[in-house]
Amino acid sequence: MKYISTRGQAPALEFEDVLLTGLAPDGGLYVPDQLPHFSLEEIRSWRELPYDQLAFKILQPFVAGFISNDDFRTMLADTYAVFGHKAIVPLQQLDHNEYVMELFHGPTLAFKDFALQLLGRLLDHALEKRGEKAVIMGATSGDTGSAAIEGCKRCDNIDIFILHPHQRVSDVQRRQMTTVKGDNIHNIAIEGNFDDCQRMVKESFGDQSFLKGERRLVAVNSINWARIMAQIVYYFYTSLNLGGPDRHMAFSVPTGNFGDIFAGYLARKMGLPIDQLVIATNENDVLHRLMSQNQYQAKPLAHTLSPSMDIVVSSNFERLLFDLYDRDGQAIAGLMDEMGHGEATLDKDSMARARDLFDSDSADDSQTCNTIRQVFSETGYLLDPHTAIGVKAARQTRRSHQVPMITLGTAHPVKFADAVAEAGLTMPDLPHHLADLMTREERYTVLPNDRQQVQAFMAENVFGQDH
Ligand SMILES: *Cc1c(COP(=O)(O)O)cnc(C)c1O
Repeated sequence: MKYISTRGQAPALEFEDVLLTGLAPDGGLYVPDQLPHFSLEEIRSWRELPYDQLAFKILQPFVAGFISNDDFRTMLADTYAVFGHKAIVPLQQLDHNEYVMELFHGPTLAFKDFALQLLGRLLDHALEKRGEKAVIMGATSGDTGSAAIEGCKRCDNIDIFILHPHQRVSDVQRRQMTTVKGDNIHNIAIEGNFDDCQRMVKESFGDQSFLKGERRLVAVNSINWARIMAQIVYYFYTSLNLGGPDRHMAFSVPTGNFGDIFAGYLARKMGLPIDQLVIATNENDVLHRLMSQNQYQAKPLAHTLSPSMDIVVSSNFERLLFDLYDRDGQAIAGLMDEMGHGEATLDKDSMARARDLFDSDSADDSQTCNTIRQVFSETGYLLDPHTAIGVKAARQTRRSHQVPMITLGTAHPVKFADAVAEAGLTMPDLPHHLADLMTREERYTVLPNDRQQVQAFMAENVFGQDH
């Protein structure tokens, strides 16, 4: 399978190169030139498969030629063996035909584990094949950093440096990063804010000379194709558990960068009967405004009780636009340029096609807390604030009560104490595998908001150099 850029001006790549590359050189994002398609009969035949074996059926076509079938089967079994629930994706019923699929039983209690646990292993495999080593550098305000660290901690060929804003992430989130053991894990607390961290990462990717040519920097942010790919599987798994593919499904997805919901769109293109996908946003509602008014208008970042959805630009939306514009790279380059300037509208046909499948909604913090309270009083089940936004959107936009509506439960509520307190409810206990988190030993280095000092620290601490 070949991968092409959404802006049409970059050479097509194989999976291995896409894995190790971030943006395409023309500024676009990589997508497969052709998706695999499965018949209903074939999908039906997967009903009895456990999660990792289903993942093999769905993902094998994307990685064929990169890894042998046996190695890939083993890799997937290892990846999902670290999850804290035997079902991997258990379902919680909220009402008649209404569900939450719990994607938070991985090591860091958020759905990003599904992709990053696999990504770390895929990267290590690619580097091993090439006899290379790499450095992962990322900035985090919470979920991504810990999931990346957990995903890479066993990788022999990767050093990982994660920057977080000093004293500006929650205790649980910091400890999920700083208590992970491993010589290749480096947490840096920057005396600055999240934007400072992000800028330093971006500048470091632009000029990697501080690594002296010995290693490459690899990005694990949500534009990485392998992350999207891994997320396709749970749409199939849940659908099969609820009578799919012979019943159609609707999914509501708490959305930030549009990675998770784009995976649902791909599942549908690959043959899974999905009638509706709901884009659920918080006050950072650029996509909801685009969908409801056909007006793209960037606005400043709002800090909310659902911080993992606090974004200004939804990067992966470009991948959907590419299809909506019949894969016309030039049109996408033009449209992205307009969006980069802060304002754009979609052509009528493209918007109509988007609205066929997608609905959207947004929730502010008080609506989020109301939903947490409401669902708790209806069922005794405690939602995290991101999932609550999904449930609200699901109820607001539902097209048919005959079709099961499934909200993606993207995080465990224990990670978001502020929202639980604001909703007036009691914090649950940490899950059993994290029960001693607050007493584990932490390791991190505080550095000033200065790129040169951060890069010098990285050059000194790259694992391979002391061995
Ligand atoms: C990252 C994240 C999201 C948003 O996912 P996208 O793929 O960026 O749309 C939603 N909820 C939680 C808890 C997250 O960590």
